[in-house]
Amino acid sequence: MPVNNSYELKRFVDSAVREVRVTDIHTHLYSAQFDDMLLWGIDDLLTYHYLVAEFFRYTSMPYEDFWALAKQEQADLIWQTLFIQASPVSEATRGVITVLKGLGLDPGARDLEAYRTYFSGLRTEDYIKTVFEVARIKDVVMTNDPFDDEECLKWQRGIQADMGFHSALRLDVLLNDWQLARIKLGKKGYLTSEILDEQTIAEVKRFLLYWVDKMNPIYMAVSLASDFAYPDDSIRTYLLEECILPVCRQLNMPLALMIGTKRSVNPDLRLAGDSLGKSDISALENLCSSYPNNKFMVTMLAREDQHELCVTARKFKNLMVFGSWWFLNNPSLIEEITRMRMELLGLSFIPQHSDARVLDQLIYKWGHSRQIIASVLYDKYKDLLDAGWRFTEEEIIRDVKYLFGGSFWEFTRKAL
Ligand SMILES: [Zn+2]
Repeated sequence: MPVNNSYELKRFVDSAVREVRVTDIHTHLYSAQFDDMLLWGIDDLLTYHYLVAEFFRYTSMPYEDFWALAKQEQADLIWQTLFIQASPVSEATRGVITVLKGLGLDPGARDLEAYRTYFSGLRTEDYIKTVFEVARIKDVVMTNDPFDDEECLKWQRGIQADMGFHSALRLDVLLNDWQLARIKLGKKGYLTSEILDEQTIAEVKRFLLYWVDKMNPIYMAVSLASDFAYPDDSIRTYLLEECILPVCRQLNMPLALMIGTKRSVNPDLRLAGDSLGKSDISALENLCSSYPNNKFMVTMLAREDQHELCVTARKFKNLMVFGSWWFLNNPSLIEEITRMRMELLGLSFIPQHSDARVLDQLIYKWGHSRQIIASVLYDKYKDLLDAGWRFTEEEIIRDVKYLFGGSFWEFTRKAL
């Protein structure tokens, strides 16, 4: 159906973005087979580390007193402080309201006990289906850590393939803490040396291939501090060059780099204590140009790095930019970043991932992002319409499908 005017355009874009089933390319969610590792429900929503950080801005409570409380008691305090004693206008608090509304609960009732009663009556498997339906999720990619003992045990016992949950092999311990990685590898029977000699290279590759076989990941991934440099004479550079990049090439598998963290700026806040820093884009340029046959999926944490990242993606077809990550996952910044990416890269990027740690968050993170992406898309189509370009509703649907999953799957499969 042709688009004749801006009124129709708005209707078509809104409906295409609202209806499209999303592939969420990076989450910390797990399928039901992982049992307690999957977080969901009102108490996990309220104790999300974004809200913990906000809670401490209002309270004089000592950190250790808060951490000594049970989860439900922490949730009570956060509810009282961030929702009742002040209005929940921050993005993370607003998110909880959007979730309640999405589930058909009444946020206006402010009845925490009623919300708890609703969740206590649910089975995990059923609730996953509900959330995927409400948030219109097709599938999600988990974060799977072969250095996490609890998670490894689950994989060893056998995890059945689940159409809705793909895996990603997380390499943070290997690339960011070689001493700890060596201890863990040793316990699993892999023989490594302090330096990357031939045997160590072979053993690390054997370890990677073992977990690739077990998890069947879509990509490998690592989060990197804001001072990430490549190349340098750290063990990380050698691990990348000798082990990870060759295995990724062999398997035609992307490596996802999440660059820009500053870990434990305030350790008292635990998971909420990480921050961010500006990074040097030349590390990424060096990787993309030195390894044209490797595919890199990259997101950066500092707002200041977004423009350089976009320009770098224009230079290297083996670089796929994705998501508005963590502290960028706020409407004003998603809007700015998505608009810039579309202007520099057309549709050849992945506008968003949820990074959800709690299942229910898919509802708000995607709900809020969809609105923004739709509004940016509308503006871009409107400019085309005004300039005399003619297009159809089917073409809008095609583009929207590409943005919400197509570009990701195409990149993972493409051969360089
Ligand atoms: Zn994450």
